[in-house]
Amino acid sequence: MKLVKTPDEVRAWRKTMPTLALVPTMGFLHEGHLSLMREGVKRAGVCAATIFVNPTQFGPKEDLSRYPRDLEGDLAKCESAGVSLVYAPEPASVYPAGYQTYVTVDDVSQGLDGASRPGHFRGVATVVAKLLALFRPDVALFGEKDFQQLQVIKALTKDLELGVEIVGQPTVREADGLAMSSRNAYLSKEDRQKALGLSRGLFRARDSRERDAEKVKAMIRAELGEVREDYVAVVDSETLKPISKIEARPARALVAAFVGTTRLIDNVAL
Ligand code: AMP
Repeated sequence: MKLVKTPDEVRAWRKTMPTLALVPTMGFLHEGHLSLMREGVKRAGVCAATIFVNPTQFGPKEDLSRYPRDLEGDLAKCESAGVSLVYAPEPASVYPAGYQTYVTVDDVSQGLDGASRPGHFRGVATVVAKLLALFRPDVALFGEKDFQQLQVIKALTKDLELGVEIVGQPTVREADGLAMSSRNAYLSKEDRQKALGLSRGLFRARDSRERDAEKVKAMIRAELGEVREDYVAVVDSETLKPISKIEARPARALVAAFVGTTRLIDNVAL
């Protein structure tokens, strides 16, 4: 496995690869990330991963400076998942002085995390567009854990005609249901228990087969307990617009909540 830090090194390596899968990450890797990498190897034969805590997707009051990092541990995990190349650039290389180009995806970036985290999806779309342009992968893999992000990236690749297949992979969970996240590292033992309210509510709502969105949301809220809700939503899986009845089209329940000061998100198909 190769570790590179500059775009020139990526381009030189890319030329030697007939097909390629790409898995962008912010590092502090867990099984959720590794599942994407293994699937990338399966689909394209060769998989590259990126590790970059992207400053443009963090708000001024968010956790950019304390976001957990462990490059050495991450490299070992990437290698174990069959990754061939890791690109871990410095922020000044991705956004040098004078940088001025940003990508905004309109509709699906509105609402949900887009409302709670202004500018977040502009940062995500920009860095993902840059990485897709640099690597030119055949396929890029993202987690359903960040469901709105997945829809933003699908829209961006379609609209910009990037010719890359975007694959969404199921959320990998801890044995007790908590969605794996690098941010789980922030949770105290007590908060870790409280955080289970998110997945418990979502599972309960899903398993109930309830079709009325207000009742679905009430079931989720009932399980949040001491966890402070940011939003609970029932939406059309493609447009992410709120719906009142779950009918023939695929629907999704999403929740964002603060466990102490840690903001967690989770979602399920209904
Ligand atoms: P992040 O490092 O949090 O930016 O995540 C990098 C990629 O891993 C994104 O496509 C995420 O959706 C995905 N991911 C994060 N957590 C999980 C999980 N628990 N299961 C599956 N994919 C995940």
